[in-house]
Amino acid sequence: MEIKRKQYADLERLLFTEEEIRSAVQTLGARISADYEDKEPLLICVLKGACVFFSDLIRAIDTPVSIDFIAASSYGGGTRPQHEVILKHEPSQSVKGRDVILVEDIMDTGNTLLCLKRFFEETGAASVRIAALLDKPSRRCVPLQPDYSCFTIPDAFVVGYGLDYDEQYRSLPEIGILSPTVWDK
Ligand code: 5GP
Repeated sequence: MEIKRKQYADLERLLFTEEEIRSAVQTLGARISADYEDKEPLLICVLKGACVFFSDLIRAIDTPVSIDFIAASSYGGGTRPQHEVILKHEPSQSVKGRDVILVEDIMDTGNTLLCLKRFFEETGAASVRIAALLDKPSRRCVPLQPDYSCFTIPDAFVVGYGLDYDEQYRSLPEIGILSPTVWDK
């Protein structure tokens, strides 16, 4: 408890409560259920940041889905994106002919998701859509928007609900803006 209290103290402010997140994820699940009514989409979780969102989202979808996991790296311990995306873990099943939904924690510059979308299109997926929990459009530097997102946020570094800073804060149930005093250290 003491550690979590300390983590809350590192937040400049809370952006979304547990209840707001739950409601937004349920709404998104209903939308995806309707859009993929006659299909069985393959939802691919982009580790690690999307893991909490992913596990809630797949349970909010009524229609059958398959799941898989990939790991892509574009951040070290800092708060600004690098421009290179390294695929560290590929899906365990073929995406050929599948309707893929890439599930990501946040679309920031868009570099990571653009690279991943192209990768799966080139690998033979029938379709590739993007579900990003958070959308930070003011930072976009590539022509790509998420097909689905729960919240649009300002240009700030956020943590919680799977999102980390230096592997901390992922287990917070809420999403908040990290205080600049933490990453200025
Ligand atoms: P992009 O390629 O769109 O610039 O961002 C890719 C990755 O950067 C995201 O998947 C996420 O891991 C990380 N990222 C971008 N903005 C934030 C943020 O505000 N907070 C955290 N924790 N990670 C972020």
